[in-house]
Amino acid sequence: MPSQRHVVIVGGGFGGLAAARTLRRANARITLIDRDNHHLFQPLLYQVATAALSPADIATPIRTILRAQTNASVVLGEVTDIDLSARSVRLDDRLTIDYDYLVLATGARHSYFGNDQWAEHAPGLKTIEDALEIRKRILLAFEEAEWETDDDARRAKLTFAIVGAGPTGVELAGAIKEIAAQSIPRDFRNIDTTTTRVILIEGDQRVLPAMSEAASARALKDLQRMGVEVRLDTFVTDVQPDGVRVGDEFLRAGNTFWAAGVRPSSLSAKLGVPLDDAGRVIVEPDLSLPNHPEAFAIGDIACSTDPATDRPVPGVAQGALQGGKHAAKLIAGDLSASIPRDKRPAFRYRDKGSMATIGRAKAVADIGRRSLGGLLAWVLWSVIHVLFLVSFRNRFMVLVGWAWEWVVFSKGARLITGNDTPGVRRYRGLGASDAPTTAD
Ligand SMILES: Cc1cc2nc3c(=O)[nH]c(=O)nc-3n(C[C@H](O)[C@H](O)[C@H](O)COP(=O)(O)OP(=O)(O)OC[C@H]3O[C@@H](n4cnc5c(N)ncnc54)[C@H](O)[C@@H]3O)c2cc1C
Repeated sequence: MPSQRHVVIVGGGFGGLAAARTLRRANARITLIDRDNHHLFQPLLYQVATAALSPADIATPIRTILRAQTNASVVLGEVTDIDLSARSVRLDDRLTIDYDYLVLATGARHSYFGNDQWAEHAPGLKTIEDALEIRKRILLAFEEAEWETDDDARRAKLTFAIVGAGPTGVELAGAIKEIAAQSIPRDFRNIDTTTTRVILIEGDQRVLPAMSEAASARALKDLQRMGVEVRLDTFVTDVQPDGVRVGDEFLRAGNTFWAAGVRPSSLSAKLGVPLDDAGRVIVEPDLSLPNHPEAFAIGDIACSTDPATDRPVPGVAQGALQGGKHAAKLIAGDLSASIPRDKRPAFRYRDKGSMATIGRAKAVADIGRRSLGGLLAWVLWSVIHVLFLVSFRNRFMVLVGWAWEWVVFSKGARLITGNDTPGVRRYRGLGASDAPTTAD
């Protein structure tokens, strides 16, 4: 009997996981490699960054998800290189794994458009670590402001600049305003947290530029009603520890967060195949790599065009999920010889709509040609996000967390963690040489 074919999937995000699950009945050995041990539901990451949810509410160990799928095994490790002609991937620079089929689904990370030095002062949001860093900075800002005696310095500490008004920027801005206005005012004695300034800076002429004009207009109105200062058509030209420069103006802000762009995983550059301007792999219509029908790139790392609309497939969870399923079906078709390689169907993206939330009972949603706002869109947003969470535990925990927040107007995960970090040490008046002790 011939040995089973080996499918290697790199990345256990939306695309990689969908590919693995679609292959559950395939007569093949599947290895899913991820550098993290968990699948992360990124659309709710901003809620961890703003203390509404805890990390485990939106992440699940990949081993748990694939526990019942006996043809799949999970490897924790970072793929550092890929040799398409030898059909092998290199793991942590020391181990080589051969494959018959490859699905590359390593996603994207944030881009500072060539200004990587800004990352230190303006963290972006992509991983749980990023979310905890942002949460710490937000909560520390209020702690530092509480004992600050200088008015200007206190005002700066209570000012947050957010660069980029896509869904992540809009959601972060609304949530920070909610913390300041609803969750914590009674917790502090020396400051009025309701005076917190949130400045949302966007280079485009509208917020949520990828959504309909009606959704953008509605979101802008909601943000402004909540007190968020929105600056449109404005480009950040420098980021410093104490604020951002926009044109001739320097906006003093104790904290800046970055939500303004993405670039694909660095593995794309190691494949030796054509890339688009953003560095994404330009894939064939069936999502395979040029001259490599056994290798696929899906999700945020890939650049593909929907043949029906001639429009690029957007870098969203649905694009990755549908791409993962498509690649897996073609692999299954190859394994069973039911889909000849020269008759492979092109990938068709089905746009199921897009949505963003702004705050309590405030959201916008574009579904088909309809644009919804307010409570209805918020309920829809909530239901869809809960349904797409990967495990029952996640769904349950998120629902409980939201119900709690709805009733008590408080965000329950307001923990400042990582006591040896510069922010906490500065707050406690410790110098860099004062090593923390276990008594700390
Ligand atoms: C904050 C935020 C909010 C978002 N909100 C929404 C939203 O509301 N709606 C929506 O549709 N989309 C949203 N997105 C976009 C959506 O999450 C992505 O489009 C989607 O995750 C892409 O799926 P993917 O499988 O390509 O990559 P990912 O889901 O990013 O998965 C990539 C996986 O690859 C792993 N990996 C990366 N490099 C390596 C390596 N070298 N070796 C091993 N493993 C590796 C990573 O650990 C990760 O698990 C959001 C994204 C972010 C960051």
